[in-house]
Amino acid sequence: MAAASFETPAFREYPSVPALKPDAMAHLQPYVANEKIQEALGLPGKLVDDWHDVAIARMGDLLGKYRGLRVFMDSCVHCGACTDKCHYFIGSADPKNMPVARQELFRSVYRRYFTLPGKLFPKLVGARDLTKDVLDEWFSYFWQCSECRRCSVFCPYGIDTAEVTMAARAVLDTVGYGQKYSNEILGKVTKIGNNLGLPGPALLDTLEGLEEDVKADTGVDVKFPLDVKGAEILLVTPSADFFAEPHIESLIGYGKVFHAAGASWTLSSHASEAGNFGLFTGDYALMKKIATRIRDAALELGVKRIIVGECGHAWRVTYSFWNTLVGLGAGGTDPYAIEFQKQLDPRYPQPMHICEYTWDLIERGVLKFDKSLNDHRTITFHDSCNVARGSRMGDRAGGQFDIPRNIIKAVANNYVDMEAGTIREKTFCCGGGGGVLTDDLLELRVKGALPRMEALKQVADSRNVNFMATICAICKAQFTKVLPYYGFKMGVVGGVHQLVSTAIRLEGQE
Ligand code: SF4
Ligand code: SF4
Repeated sequence: MAAASFETPAFREYPSVPALKPDAMAHLQPYVANEKIQEALGLPGKLVDDWHDVAIARMGDLLGKYRGLRVFMDSCVHCGACTDKCHYFIGSADPKNMPVARQELFRSVYRRYFTLPGKLFPKLVGARDLTKDVLDEWFSYFWQCSECRRCSVFCPYGIDTAEVTMAARAVLDTVGYGQKYSNEILGKVTKIGNNLGLPGPALLDTLEGLEEDVKADTGVDVKFPLDVKGAEILLVTPSADFFAEPHIESLIGYGKVFHAAGASWTLSSHASEAGNFGLFTGDYALMKKIATRIRDAALELGVKRIIVGECGHAWRVTYSFWNTLVGLGAGGTDPYAIEFQKQLDPRYPQPMHICEYTWDLIERGVLKFDKSLNDHRTITFHDSCNVARGSRMGDRAGGQFDIPRNIIKAVANNYVDMEAGTIREKTFCCGGGGGVLTDDLLELRVKGALPRMEALKQVADSRNVNFMATICAICKAQFTKVLPYYGFKMGVVGGVHQLVSTAIRLEGQE
């Protein structure tokens, strides 16, 4: 771990509200996307000359299109219930990282241009002109929000700061002020098929290497098939699963589960990414384009089922947006959507999370485990924001919380939950979600991880927890990076299917 130019926040004795440090994070901005990155997405290469008018027009467009955004602009009563609920505020003490203050950066401009009092008496109602300084402030603080939606759980009006953040980022993109990390990734996935820019032959190589590793480890021929036409199941998973640690351990787990179930399955080189960063930049057209790659792959391969791997925001996009994006379920009326729906097998939830798939097999007694193989671990579970607050899983309310925990308890003997106010729908973000998982924002990521690290420390000290499972590729990458800042080893984090992989017993396994 290189020496940091910032201080890691100290653990608090009690979860108290930090003393305010105005502008503590004002210096922090992500890198700006260059012309090549911007133009690959059809966005202006740099800040356009008439950016002010373009930005206001885009705000008007968004306010007209998304009624929720307009309601959020008008309904905040400044009650303060959200102020201390954001992990970035808790970790940085910067008052502009309070959710209500973050919204106010956008709302004050909204008031100025879209309300009568703001047009007539701007000072009286706290309305602001959109100046270049304000635009810079947006670029700073709207990239200090992970769109985790924790604040909205505590807002009596359900105001969702994540939606405001998405709108602000959409305006920034429109005027040519994009964020390098997210837009670069969007370029790769739309061109090559995954966030890493990993081409098909390299993917094939990786998967063949994985088959050899698993064979050497278990003596069993577990396959990781690619582009198999006529396979029953298409697995779409975050591309980090193909090479990053600990992600790849979960991919091995999925492969073992499919093998044990005798399933016919495949990955796709065309749709080798479950993640969809269009959600982070508030660009629904790009979200649709990325989701459509998966539909195209499913149609091309003729699969009957689609299963999504361990990726938080991917599951939210899949579960909550695919009906309108690609016509899976109600609303799909274009010929491809109709064909897609006819092709998929209605006896199964479409789409399905890998945890639903595995849990169903466990409930039916299809999988065999030796739980003692996980006895060196005392495990806790980190609920990932987009799964916890943006989706569901299975056929019961709360399935997104219960199913991963049920799997862990089925494959391991030692399980402990973290403190109630930090899990399930009140879970704290890992600190790296929503498009901020980049080293230029490392200070933010470390500071924003504080509440989760505190909750982990508490169960590590009191219950000997030494493994934190999660079902999100971003959470895994973020924790791997920030755990050492808080005195933990990187290997403390891992996937739910990593635990499955450890305990599962395959026929013929040595
Ligand atoms: S990071 Fe999460 S809690 Fe903080 S303002 Fe954004 S959505 Fe709200
Ligand atoms: S909790 Fe809701 S209404 Fe209260 S200040 Fe926050 S956003 Fe406004």
